[in-house]
Amino acid sequence: MTMAGTPSILSTGMTPIEGLGRPAELVLRNAKIYTGDRAHPTASAAAIRDGRFVAVGEESDVAPHVGVATRIIDARGRRVIPGLNDSHQHVIRTGLRYLLELRWDGVASLRVALRMLCEQAERTPPGQWVRVIGGWSSEQFAEQRIPTIGELNEAAPETPVAVTHAYQAVLLNRAALDALGYTRDTPDPPGGQFVRNHAGVPTGLLLATPSPMIIYSTLARTPDTSPNVQLVSTRYLLNELNRFGLTSVMDAAGGFQSFPDNYRSVMQLAEQGELSLRLAYYLFPQTPGQELEDFKRWMQMVRPGDGDRWLRCNGAGENLVWATNDYENFAEPRPELPPNATHELDTAARLLLGNGWGFRMHATYDESIRAALDVFERIKADGAWSEGIRWIFDHAETVSPRSLERIKALGGAISVQHRMAYQGSAFARRYGAQQAAVSPPIRAMLDLGLRVGAGTDAPRVSSYNPWVSLAWLVTGRTVGGALLYPPENRVSREVALDMYTTAGADLSGESDVKGTISVGKYGDLAVLSADYFTVPEDDISRIESLLTVVDGRIVYSAGEYEDTAPPLPPIPFSWSPIAHYGAYQQSPPRGVRQAQALTDAVAESTEHRIWREGRGEIGADVVRQGHHGCY
Ligand SMILES: [Zn+2]
Ligand SMILES: [Zn+2]
Repeated sequence: MTMAGTPSILSTGMTPIEGLGRPAELVLRNAKIYTGDRAHPTASAAAIRDGRFVAVGEESDVAPHVGVATRIIDARGRRVIPGLNDSHQHVIRTGLRYLLELRWDGVASLRVALRMLCEQAERTPPGQWVRVIGGWSSEQFAEQRIPTIGELNEAAPETPVAVTHAYQAVLLNRAALDALGYTRDTPDPPGGQFVRNHAGVPTGLLLATPSPMIIYSTLARTPDTSPNVQLVSTRYLLNELNRFGLTSVMDAAGGFQSFPDNYRSVMQLAEQGELSLRLAYYLFPQTPGQELEDFKRWMQMVRPGDGDRWLRCNGAGENLVWATNDYENFAEPRPELPPNATHELDTAARLLLGNGWGFRMHATYDESIRAALDVFERIKADGAWSEGIRWIFDHAETVSPRSLERIKALGGAISVQHRMAYQGSAFARRYGAQQAAVSPPIRAMLDLGLRVGAGTDAPRVSSYNPWVSLAWLVTGRTVGGALLYPPENRVSREVALDMYTTAGADLSGESDVKGTISVGKYGDLAVLSADYFTVPEDDISRIESLLTVVDGRIVYSAGEYEDTAPPLPPIPFSWSPIAHYGAYQQSPPRGVRQAQALTDAVAESTEHRIWREGRGEIGADVVRQGHHGCY
């Protein structure tokens, strides 16, 4: 490679942008790049300057951009893709307490999950809790079930534990019931239900029916973190997302995520130049009945599009009014919308549209989608719809073909997530395999020409790991391996990746700067641990990034690139579950994984453990660890 700044780039037919001669910050070479750009789909080298691609092509195209200070990354023939963009996740809220969470994402057996819980309980200081906040489901465990309260009590006899399972239930151990003061005399909380024993005492199982308010409100009563810890905590979460090649996320907001109070961490990180991932955020009214007041107040403070290339406001949602929320508890019947729902949605939508605000709206079932479309079409008939407004339906698992046409006529887009990968078997048991096979009808959406962004809805229902979601799109299987979709409702690897890159950029209105590896766009990319386009389908979910670049900055590095990314500040408390386990637990390939998970699942009894110890399968120190032992 030449080091001179000769303008040979002109002879390659690439368009140089101003200031050729100043060297690039970062040059990637010897790569197998999927650019996502239809006009130039492949490349082997790219150069980034001032946070944007200045050359994408072959070695000779990037050579003129190399100077003495240019960092050159040799991809050694690895697959490189545009940075991934999750079009629906809840990052801002999660970041605040992420360092307090024990994540079961990816854990292959309940036995291992409980062992982690037990170990974590032993190192958790008095006054603190162990929290497992979603990102897992019974379908991923070899045992195919959730833990019992008895198992939580056994794993953590003294430390309060809260485990949430999707939007179905919260499991509290005895210590947590004591800490919250829940007794026989405590009435059921609004929207939820205590399971009680024969004496009327809550067992610790809290059912989130008909609304998940019980999950929000229980978690809100667990110990909080200081603003400084929230900053560090957010950085660790963003780093974990960078680990999988994510460079952008659309944050769908949520309950107990009030603007601007709970956005301060990401705002401060943006100001300090310490975000490692770009966030497009939404505003979510916090109190049922006061939605309009919230929106009116926020409209005085911020407008869609405000912000910069790292953090920008993108509109209202995913909640517009609480009354239309149809939570996706697939183990329970579909909730009916209250009679006031459409009237409230009408008022809120008119306020937003009248002020030029785009929005996204949570809608799981076709019944809710039809009700919302009736409202939107009425607004349009009144001449109050703003043409060209960016709006999205989120989830849409059971959307009908007719509704898809109506969404298209109104210029809407859809954000789908792999919630069915976590709850697909429960869904199929309730609605049948035939309905499950088209829930959501991904191919029908795409065939109609709708813009469809992919994502996860992490972390309370599903994991944030984008490769698990990409695997779901391509294989049509749940995290437990059950087949949901026939080939007619699956997509190619290329289409799935586009849904995770270009579609996300489209949904946030940033197609001109994001989504592909093209000259002029943001320098966001990931060097992958394995070639997404050629690995066996079963291995897609196991892909990670070895090097993630955002804005030309290396934000995450692993394997042979380890230590190329700048280190994160230390975790402020040594007992953090993240400090001990990290978050997503990567498991070995499927065959080995199943065998191991089953071994873990059956290794329950002390006798069995001693037998395994005798065979040298586990060390004696492991058996005797802790005051009552964690296995
Ligand atoms: Zn939602
Ligand atoms: Zn959501």
